[in-house]
Parts: sequence; structure tokens; C-alpha cells
Amino acid sequence: MKKLDCGSVDCTQVVSQLWDYLDGELTEERMRDIQTHLTACAGCFPHFDFERAFLKALAATRKEDRMPGVLRARIMEKLREAGCEGLTSP
Ligand SMILES: [Zn+2]
Repeated sequence: MKKLDCGSVDCTQVVSQLWDYLDGELTEERMRDIQTHLTACAGCFPHFDFERAFLKALAATRKEDRMPGVLRARIMEKLREAGCEGLTSP
């Protein structure tokens, strides 16, 4: 099982907290950790970009709604496909 070096924060943690990050609901330190990871991790950044764009579009129609767990799970799945979590077997 290989794992990409994505910095101090695990890809799984980043994705699971990405919504909170985008909402600005994390501590400053945590925000920084995730931001650092996102800029360093080629696997997570596209997801961040996607989610940011998605949230932006969503905010246009709904104000204070959270993503359903289903969507979150789908993103986790995509990350796994990208091998970022090191959970994929080739
Ligand atoms: Zn990552």
C-alpha cells in the first residue's frame, strides 16, 4: 500500500473537513494546515477547486445548507480513485 506524501495533514482529513474549511468554520491553525495541504497535494486540490466552485454555485440558491453525506462520500470515492489516500490497489 503506497501513500502519497501530502504534508502533515492526511488526504482523508482534508476531504472530510473541506466543507468546514470552505465555510470557514475551522480554527485558524487547522485552516492553515488544510490550505498548505491543498496547495501541495495534486490529488486534493482539484477537489478543493471543485467544491469551492460547487459551494459558490450552491450559495446562489441556498444560504445555509450543508452537503449531504452522499456527496461527501462520492468525493471520497473520487479521491480514492486518484490514489491520493493510498487505498487503491493498482
Ligand atoms: Zn491530499
